[in-house]
Amino acid sequence: MALNGLQIQKLLPKTNCKECGSNTCLAFAMKLAAKKASLTECPYASDEAKAVLGADSEPPVKAVTIGAEKSNKIGGETVLYRHEKTFVSQTLIAVNIDDTASGIDDTLEAIRNYKLERVGEVLTVNAVAITQKKSDAAAFAALAKKVWDTTCLPVIIRANTDAAVAAAVAVKGSNSVIAGVTADNIEVLKNAAMENSHVLAITANALDGITELSERLKTEGFTNILLQFGAESMAEAFQTNTIARRAALKDSNKTLGYPTLKFIDTGDEMTDTVEAINEINKYGGILVLPTFNPAQLVSLMTLRLNIYTDPQKPIQMEPKIYEIGEPGRNSPVFCTTNFSLTYFIVSGELENAGLSCWLAIPECEGFSVLTAWAAGKFSGASIAKFIKESGIEDRLDTKRLVIPGYVSQISGELEESLPGWQVLVGPQEAADLEAFIKTVLM
Ligand code: SF4
Repeated sequence: MALNGLQIQKLLPKTNCKECGSNTCLAFAMKLAAKKASLTECPYASDEAKAVLGADSEPPVKAVTIGAEKSNKIGGETVLYRHEKTFVSQTLIAVNIDDTASGIDDTLEAIRNYKLERVGEVLTVNAVAITQKKSDAAAFAALAKKVWDTTCLPVIIRANTDAAVAAAVAVKGSNSVIAGVTADNIEVLKNAAMENSHVLAITANALDGITELSERLKTEGFTNILLQFGAESMAEAFQTNTIARRAALKDSNKTLGYPTLKFIDTGDEMTDTVEAINEINKYGGILVLPTFNPAQLVSLMTLRLNIYTDPQKPIQMEPKIYEIGEPGRNSPVFCTTNFSLTYFIVSGELENAGLSCWLAIPECEGFSVLTAWAAGKFSGASIAKFIKESGIEDRLDTKRLVIPGYVSQISGELEESLPGWQVLVGPQEAADLEAFIKTVLM
């Protein structure tokens, strides 16, 4: 019988340390009871709690990791809608390569080198799928090995049973995915997955067929499972993903409580893109694009970043001294918080002004200027400490620090804490930085 919140709370440490994101252990216990949290979010959960809560402590959608260092996690989801808490794992984006494709070496190099920087995050391709069209098992296995050796990414293997087993052996240790597991080949591919530490993507024409395979694997002790729904229209894909997620969360249906895998290949670039958007928006675990298309990746990764950003955590920049242009020993130092939006607005205005300068970004937990100041995260003392520890003083002859106009009240405290510095109060709005620079600094 499922435990209620009070019963679960008795098993928690009761220290109310808040590290799980809840204010108290009781609040966290209530979320566990409502299946809106996972026991793994409490780093201090005892072995007894894990044992007693058992399956109750698992998120409704099981977390599955792929990749050699298990760096790519999918699943682990606890909510239907992002605003209820957050989505835990973003949709992984993979690129397919057919074994008959020309220029495979070049494509692999391009995939390996692909990097997209957005709001301080570097986004890359997460996996490479290989599809057998005509090569034999040995040649297909060699291709799998080449993909892994070149990109260091997990491989999604789509082939007949013999070639899939050969490829699974060739990339042993990569924690890859064997796709297309059906009732006919499940025994052989399960053994290949277990012996070589891979994940299985089970497929059938109907949901009932998939739940049967999922149940069978679980009974046999294998739970590194992905759900690969059959060929469907976009509306059906949307509906099936929703049914599976809802069944896992609302009905505690364990057989559908796994992340999904979807190959996209409609033969039309625009339709492919829309189908990929469908997967990102509606619970997709891994989506496989038919080809390497950087233009398509930019749009999809940007969308993904928006959908899978934790609404409870502001996007943050790494706290450090950033260079704008080519600053020198007499360049001024501007300072603002590490909220990404603030950083990009301020750095953009500084670049537009054509002034080479330093931009000091202390740790402010991602708050904007006034919020950080009100929370005591952007005070004269904390900024001075950051400036001293950053080492910027050794790179300057003239020490001028420009702070946002909204926190002009900390200028006195800053000057006391930073002897030898001239503290200037900048404008309140970043849009006025250019005028400020022209009138005060030039
Ligand atoms: Fe309690 Fe664990 Fe949450 Fe801390 S992390 S408040 S101990 S449940």
